[in-house]
Amino acid sequence: MEEQEIQMKTICRVCKIHLDKVAQAKKLTSREFFILSHPKRMININFPLIRDDGSIEIVESFRIQYNESRGPTKGGIRFHQKVEEEEVKELAFLMTLKCAVVDIPFGGAKGGVRINPKKLSRNELQQLARTYIKEYARFIGPDFDIAAPDVNTDPEIMGWMLDEYEKIAGKSMPAVITGKPIALHGSKGRVYSTSLGGVFVLEEYLKYKKMKTPSIAIQGFGNVGANFAKILFGKGYRVVAVSDSSGGTYNKAGLDIKKVEAHKQETGSITNFKGGKNISNAELIALDVGILAPAALENAITDENAGRVRAKAVLELANGPVSPEADDVLNKKSIDIVPDVLANAGGVVVSYFEWLQNISSDYWSEEEVNMRLEKYMKNAFDAVLELKDEEHNFRKAAYVLAINRILEAEKARGNLPRNNK
Ligand code: NAD
Repeated sequence: MEEQEIQMKTICRVCKIHLDKVAQAKKLTSREFFILSHPKRMININFPLIRDDGSIEIVESFRIQYNESRGPTKGGIRFHQKVEEEEVKELAFLMTLKCAVVDIPFGGAKGGVRINPKKLSRNELQQLARTYIKEYARFIGPDFDIAAPDVNTDPEIMGWMLDEYEKIAGKSMPAVITGKPIALHGSKGRVYSTSLGGVFVLEEYLKYKKMKTPSIAIQGFGNVGANFAKILFGKGYRVVAVSDSSGGTYNKAGLDIKKVEAHKQETGSITNFKGGKNISNAELIALDVGILAPAALENAITDENAGRVRAKAVLELANGPVSPEADDVLNKKSIDIVPDVLANAGGVVVSYFEWLQNISSDYWSEEEVNMRLEKYMKNAFDAVLELKDEEHNFRKAAYVLAINRILEAEKARGNLPRNNK
């Protein structure tokens, strides 16, 4: 097959668009560009799921190990009806950059299964988790590729996956998966670490901008969005709007997030909350707020609605919530975007801590975890900020930081020439 054809088949569209911007400015060689824009290993397995009624469904699944120059690959597993190879590729690319931005010794990966887990019984869900690991066991491992939760997967599912992996391995190997329940050697603080990391980054950003009391709107009220809202509320910030897939609630004076959470637990949704007025997700994105934090799925802000964004800054808690086209629109409007590879990296940092604790059998207190997390997030913010003026925006600065670190590792391995020849 011609090289051109291989490129067309495996290149990641979104990664290429972002990389193109960096490549022009940084004068990346074609070899460097090739390494960065192509995943190292793509695994695609179709496997049967036996439903409770005895019928058999074939589900399509993926694991993409994007780059391992800085260490074993690392990334979550997503269960969602819209999972596509292209999406997993993009998420694996982002994981690669993220681990490099926060300077932990991992490469990036991502896994996914195209299925709507909400339509499965608990029994079927457990079978899905166990079968995924059975199928991928030969491709993952504590020193090779480490899994974790993502959208619609949680500590309980990680526990089932670990159990299945250890049965195959015939020994205890907790470091193969992070985000596990505490009872199975999970780390304290992991459940809310992405959100807490986001808060540390936000506070550094606010200090830098000398912004004191911004109003904050959050899209998505799952693990990341709800914990982010709760931590901010606990610290006295004014969270004026939150939403989930069924819609949102808004109160200019600030929402009582504990009550919103109780309402969601009671009714299953955020809408019709008494302490706020109902708004749609489209309205939330267009609110005149200090900080807009998309914490749901990719492409919440595209070229279609970017023109309506009125926030002073966007904190990307989800992965890829601002499309590359929307990125250009927001940059032109001088709206800062604190990118996903920095803003939501707290989860992978504490996953790294969990892995460290597992391989050393030395377990840390919650305070210790959070203290170390703060240090990593602040260091990463400072390193990005140092490049920001030269690179004009936070995303480009974070990309340049990550790419420099990845290419340095590739050069040290002899995979790239040192002198750009
Ligand atoms: P989750 O499944 O717990 O929550 C997702 C939330 O988004 C839910 O409240 C859901 O109702 C809402 N949602 C879905 N579609 C929506 C829509 N169209 N409009 C508004 N809300 C919508 O997932 P999560 O773990 O909180 O992850 C959210 C994002 O953060 C994802 O992009 C994920 O990749 C990213 N992320 C998660 C972690 C982590 O540690 N969980 C770490 C890094 C990044």
